[in-house]
Amino acid sequence: MGTVHNVMEDSVKDLLEKYWGDLPVSCHCETCKSDVYALSLNRLKPHYVRDQSGRMYAKASLMTTQARATILTAITESAKVVSAYPHH
Ligand SMILES: [Zn+2]
Repeated sequence: MGTVHNVMEDSVKDLLEKYWGDLPVSCHCETCKSDVYALSLNRLKPHYVRDQSGRMYAKASLMTTQARATILTAITESAKVVSAYPHH
């Protein structure tokens, strides 16, 4: 059996990299960033694909305005949680 990949990880990572500097977090270190990343993924429905072509297609479907808004909301909510309870 081949490997599968969660394209939601790619989309969250892309948006997190893009907006990390603007997020209302109390700390912008890599540890807090990883916490926001993990928390965001827990809030979002995973989207698994089997191969590379499916990955590109699924990634495009996760970049619609609505999908981006959903992901950004999850990131913003997660940033609030990490700010309130930083792990270090
Ligand atoms: Zn930190």
